[in-house]
Amino acid sequence: MPENNQQPLIILADGSTTMSGSQATRNNILAAKTLSEVLKTTLGPRGMDKMLINTIGDVKITNDGYTVLKETEPDHPAAKMIVDLAKAQEEEYVDGTTTAVVLTGEILKQAEKLLDDGVSVSLIVKGFQDATDKTLEVYDQIAIETSKDELIDVAATSMSGKGSFQNIREMATDLVEALLDVDEEAMIDPDNIKIRKIHGASSESTEITESVTVDKEVLEVEMPHDVKDAKIALLEYPIDARELQNDAKIKLTTPFEYQSYLDKESEMLQEEVQALVDAGVTVLFNNKKISDLGQHYLEKAGIMAAKRVKAGDLERLSHATGANIVNNIHEITSDDLGEAGHVYEREVYEDREYIFVEECKNPGVLNIIVRGTTKLMTDELEQAINDAIGAVARAIKEKKALPGGGAADIAAAKELSNYANQFTDKEQLVILAYAEALKELPAALAKNAGLDIIDVKTDLLAAQEDSPYMGINVLTGEVSDMKADGVLDSKNSKAAITEAATTIAEEILRIDDVVATKHETPVGGDMPGTPNPYAM
Ligand code: ADP
Ligand code: MG
Repeated sequence: MPENNQQPLIILADGSTTMSGSQATRNNILAAKTLSEVLKTTLGPRGMDKMLINTIGDVKITNDGYTVLKETEPDHPAAKMIVDLAKAQEEEYVDGTTTAVVLTGEILKQAEKLLDDGVSVSLIVKGFQDATDKTLEVYDQIAIETSKDELIDVAATSMSGKGSFQNIREMATDLVEALLDVDEEAMIDPDNIKIRKIHGASSESTEITESVTVDKEVLEVEMPHDVKDAKIALLEYPIDARELQNDAKIKLTTPFEYQSYLDKESEMLQEEVQALVDAGVTVLFNNKKISDLGQHYLEKAGIMAAKRVKAGDLERLSHATGANIVNNIHEITSDDLGEAGHVYEREVYEDREYIFVEECKNPGVLNIIVRGTTKLMTDELEQAINDAIGAVARAIKEKKALPGGGAADIAAAKELSNYANQFTDKEQLVILAYAEALKELPAALAKNAGLDIIDVKTDLLAAQEDSPYMGINVLTGEVSDMKADGVLDSKNSKAAITEAATTIAEEILRIDDVVATKHETPVGGDMPGTPNPYAM
């Protein structure tokens, strides 16, 4: 750190270019606008997919804002800041990344006009801050209390942002019912949610249940394949008499010794299985191996068993059923066992069996089997479900939602036009400019649905005279009541987007020196020309 507030001294390599003042600012704004324009066409249920092709030719199709940005790795510093913003939104809220980037771009577009009109950066920053605070106030005023039905709306709205799936409401309902069971105080733990994707069936066969699946088969045909009121043991212990084999290697010289080795092995395995029987085990999940002979004794004992179960599945089973994971079979007691009402094997697709553990003792462990006819569809649906989990998790916590379809944005924009009157001429301009940026969100939703933006903006402003819930429903093409239509967004995710978009826009406005050294990739492509954040 430099002492006495001295500026740090930066020695540039020969051939470095520097940009400063408004040219650099404008270059940064251009980079942000470019990213925003690219993502804008993916916003909302009628948004288009983007096809991403990386340098080794892998193709990915998505309409998820952050996925697009992540894959493009822009070089431009301002573009990088926006990618970081999207990443932060993704990590914290999962949903809302596109909106965050589009809003930042729109705020900066307005800032550019203000700069053209001679408004200073510091006044712009102050005005944007005031406008954001006001916007958050409006969100508070118009927020909708969420009970179960509204949470289902939040989930369905979030999912529809990722694609049009036939059974969105059913999936949203299953998801909310499962998530509502999670202890209110406890955060929804991503480790307790397992999403498996299997294509080759319609999305209607997607299953969202409070249960655990294990992608293993029951070891022997003669073992039980359907167990009610199961007493479940979770083991990290090889049932294969391995130690005995190691000891025995040197000694096995005569047929007699070999026979005695076999006897010892079976005796040991029988004892081990007896330990399970004594504890009252009816179902065993072991993440280590089980020898053929071990399987044989388990079968004789009538225990359903699976081996080499993944550690993550064992953890989820432990949370769901209350079983302890035991690493020495000889120490297992009835206290270590978990409980589930129903454990059974089922074929989930051609010749692929899973073991389903249902009616578990503890709530909150989710099993999601995403189905779709193609891999593209299961990928899209997985993203949709992830977004919905993020949105619902937030809405459950805060118990508040906002009307979607641009309603909250228009409500805030309308309020900002009144609020602006309290300020001096120039700051008035800044606040009104912020309102214009907000209006671009419904405009983008409408444009993506092939609707006339001017008409929609006018209709929305008029409709909002009656109610702050009026938004554009892009599925019907009508301006209507978003609460009644069930188009709801999580309130605190929306508030976080608005705050973060403003903050990043302000930071971008404030950078006025950009340094590019000749050894590195030029900042923004061919400086000082057009930045190219999409150089892949
Ligand atoms: P993000 O990555 O920002 O979540 P999405 O593509 O998921 O972007 O779009 C989210 C926006 O789509 C939200 O503002 C939401 O209100 C809006 N939306 C969802 N469903 C509808 C609908 N039926 N009509 C209008 N807007 C909708
Ligand atoms: Mg979304």
